[in-house]
Amino acid sequence: MNFLCQIRPGSSDPELLVGILGVGVLICGGIWGLVLWVRRASTSPDPWDRSITEELEQEQAVQLCHRCLAAQESSADFCPACGAPVGQYTNWLPYPYLFSIGHTLRIGTSGEYKRTRLTIFGFFLLGLAEYAVFAPVYWFMVLRRLAKPNPPTTTSPQAPDPRSLPGV
Ligand SMILES: [Zn+2]
Repeated sequence: MNFLCQIRPGSSDPELLVGILGVGVLICGGIWGLVLWVRRASTSPDPWDRSITEELEQEQAVQLCHRCLAAQESSADFCPACGAPVGQYTNWLPYPYLFSIGHTLRIGTSGEYKRTRLTIFGFFLLGLAEYAVFAPVYWFMVLRRLAKPNPPTTTSPQAPDPRSLPGV
């Protein structure tokens, strides 16, 4: 920090200028090395083989809901069966992202999630961030549901068998 305090307009100390140039060259070299490292890095392989990747890239491939596995239209923002956000950019759109947050908060009060300390803490934190003064009401709803046993995982009755869909 003392080094940076000595930099003033009109400073003519040659050692200081050489030091600044050296640091600048090191920073540029580091950034260039980082860019080369990122460009050379191999992408991590998918957990499935090449045939499944080719099937997923076919035109007839059907998009599924990540929560209930119901077939989705490619233009859908929310799953009509369970309400989960399924659109590629739904969580980034200014208005629909509010419904995504609402869906996440409803999961907390429904109790249909993997109950770990981290997820429960996350629901408490999200409730605080979204409801502020009214967060204790949401926390009460979450705690009331936590007192009951975890419900069995439900899937939509409209959800088709994923293996029967083309391209899946
Ligand atoms: Zn769904």
